[in-house]
Amino acid sequence: MEISGRTRLLCLIGSPVGHSGSPAMQNYSCDRTGVDAAYLAFDIKEEQTKEAFDALRLLNVQGFNVTMPCKTAAAACCDELSKAAELIGAVNTVVNENGKMVGHITDGQGWVRNCRENGVEITGKKMTIVGSGGAATAIEITSALEGIRELSIFAIKDSFFANAETTVEKIRANVPGCVVNLYDLADKEKFYQEIADSDIFTNATRVGMKPMDDATLIEDKSAFRKDLVVTDVVYNPRETRMIKEAKEAGCKVVPGIGMLVWQGAEGFKLFTGNEMPVDEVMEKYFKD
Ligand code: NAD
Repeated sequence: MEISGRTRLLCLIGSPVGHSGSPAMQNYSCDRTGVDAAYLAFDIKEEQTKEAFDALRLLNVQGFNVTMPCKTAAAACCDELSKAAELIGAVNTVVNENGKMVGHITDGQGWVRNCRENGVEITGKKMTIVGSGGAATAIEITSALEGIRELSIFAIKDSFFANAETTVEKIRANVPGCVVNLYDLADKEKFYQEIADSDIFTNATRVGMKPMDDATLIEDKSAFRKDLVVTDVVYNPRETRMIKEAKEAGCKVVPGIGMLVWQGAEGFKLFTGNEMPVDEVMEKYFKD
């Protein structure tokens, strides 16, 4: 696409942004679907979020993505928030709706869509999930909003643990139909009991990510029943040790790379109304 006087701006703010795959996949998708916009990345520190937000409003940006460490500060700058963004208290996508800046968070939607594209529906299911950080909170709240029946959340007692306590309170207050409980990951007996009673198991922690790629949350491989779906948020490496071992045991697996692409695709749809050509994007930018 040629840049003209009418070309609109899309962008990413956060720090660091140099490694991000978003400019490549969003520009490719604009090009392929005929959207007259260009997507750039700007290195913005957390304390600069409000200034950047005001500048983008002045430039009449079409929309922008927000990455760490600006996701929470950006939520506070929005004129309106989606239900998930309001409950999570963070945004990763902001859409300029004729001057009104509307904040969304697509990480959880990306996970749900990645499951669906792999033939896994979450409505009415029970999931055991480990994690209390950004990715975990997004998946926990979005899956509750999307109709999951029961969530058993496990987390280590680090500085993130209080987030998980807040998440449980928010789900209980806003999605009363979803049963949610929080447990200490140190209680391995309860951990394996809950997995045995679940349809889905999800790792939403850093465990398994390089350089921790020899680590797995599931040491007892007998937990991998053939009818258990095993999903991971980690995408570096593409297949974590947990995903490899679950696959070998005959489980259906849903690796984290699809979540990454689908959260971008959900953002692209919010920006442009168009579907991202996900298969092409995956092949071109995210193949090993
Ligand atoms: P975060 O820093 O917000 O949270 C980290 C989480 O890991 C916390 O819950 C922490 O308690 C847990 N943790 C750390 N060490 C642990 C251990 N030894 N045992 C158990 N739990 C442990 O990080 P985040 O932003 O939530 O990212 C977590 C992972 O998810 C990263 O690998 C990140 O790359 C990935 N991620 C993937 C996507 C995607 O689209 N696929 C999106 C966001 C994050």
